[in-house]
Amino acid sequence: MKEACGVFGVYAPGRGVAHLTFDGIYALQHRGQESAGMAVSDGQTITVVKDMGLVSAVFDERTLSGLPGSLAIGHTRYSTHGSSDWANAQPVYRSVGRAGFALGHNGNLTNTPALTERAGMLTSIGASDSDVVAELLSQAVPADNEPASAGDHLRQALRTVLPGLEGAFSFVLLDATHVYGVRDPHGFRPLCLGRLGPVDHPEGWVLASESPALDVIGAAFVRELEPGELVVIDETGVHSEQLFAPEAIDAKLCIFEFVYFARPDTRLYGREVHGTRRHMGELLAEQAPVHADLVMGVPDSGVPAAEGYARRSGIPYGQGLIKNRYIGRTFIEPDQLTRANGVRRKLNPLRDNVAGKRLIVVDDSIVRGTTTRAIVGMLRDAGAAEVHLRISSPPFRWPCFYGIDTPNRDDLLAANLSLEAIAEFLDVDSIAYISLKNLKRAIDAPGAGFCDACLTGDYPVAVPVALRSPKAATVGAVATPADVDEAVGLQAALPGV
Ligand code: SF4
Repeated sequence: MKEACGVFGVYAPGRGVAHLTFDGIYALQHRGQESAGMAVSDGQTITVVKDMGLVSAVFDERTLSGLPGSLAIGHTRYSTHGSSDWANAQPVYRSVGRAGFALGHNGNLTNTPALTERAGMLTSIGASDSDVVAELLSQAVPADNEPASAGDHLRQALRTVLPGLEGAFSFVLLDATHVYGVRDPHGFRPLCLGRLGPVDHPEGWVLASESPALDVIGAAFVRELEPGELVVIDETGVHSEQLFAPEAIDAKLCIFEFVYFARPDTRLYGREVHGTRRHMGELLAEQAPVHADLVMGVPDSGVPAAEGYARRSGIPYGQGLIKNRYIGRTFIEPDQLTRANGVRRKLNPLRDNVAGKRLIVVDDSIVRGTTTRAIVGMLRDAGAAEVHLRISSPPFRWPCFYGIDTPNRDDLLAANLSLEAIAEFLDVDSIAYISLKNLKRAIDAPGAGFCDACLTGDYPVAVPVALRSPKAATVGAVATPADVDEAVGLQAALPGV
């Protein structure tokens, strides 16, 4: 699975906002590695710099020093809608009258065709959903737009346009003198607010997809934005308003932010993600125990759950795989054979640690199964006596339409095979997935709302037929929690286990 995008915004007069934005989006690099960009305003003029590649490849000291200003937004992109090319790199910029604005988007809209038509754009040009939103906003801003009035105009345009969007969006925007942040009424994607300087004398304000982007620039975490909330930051401070009717607000933060997407040092729903992953492992150990010699995690995101499993089971924790840290976190692989070779380039077994051992291997998720199968194969080649797989998320059975790049249902392993058949395909001695109930217990945020559509098929925002794979006729069918727990809470009863 590939993450969607990372967004960042800063209002900090006199603080070299281009450098702050570089550090912010560098901390969010794991959310998207295809392109990077920023828009900087000096109070009059907005300058946008963006290109394909990692943050460190797009920006250097010379570029950053040529971007003076007091406010900026930044973006790292992984394309989930629209092609991966320069034209779709963000921030997107639009000029209206004598002023302009820039926009960065994390998420994926589900009614883009209707919005494209509403904007009068040609569907054949392959514009991203973010580009369509920027176009709609620019059409809602009066043509006599001047830098002095741009803030009022853009705020009013957001009030007009955003209630017509469906799906997932956390936007950051910037005009000549304001930075904006807004979340969709379900809050699918995270967005938090931070402060530079002391509480009683703030020196600036920051918006970021994840809290570590605040930490790296020395900003204090203030709070997560509420679903449907718009914040506007200018020289008078932070102003907040709710853009949506109360009945439209229904918190559904992506549960996979906790399982896999977010950095372990990120805070979501007031909890540090690393601790929730360790707790997932503890509950998995209670739910699916097995006799073994060593518990190991698949680097990186399987490691905290493995630590938790070891702690609760009393079985020693150790490393069984070493990761080459100088390979990007993701590879775009054209076929399954290449993907398996990609795993060998990225991970290598510690033979002395695994040879002759009964291993409990903990990973965060299984999507197609090809990566997991390659890992199990490497461990067996290295002499593992038994491999017992424990997964800290329930089976991934439905595609995501809200900003995560997932395969069609036909390619999702758990959508097509029984637990026994999955164990056989992966060549493991046993397999168990954490139950949805235990996953939510591990996160331990009573009353908090989650999207779990890829696990349950219960989509919070209807997914139009046009977005579904023609073969995936059952997408959108709603599984009952009982179906899910029955299927995931059990260990496959394999001969000899
Ligand atoms: S469908 Fe899954 S990956 Fe997509 S937003 Fe919902 S929980 Fe997250």
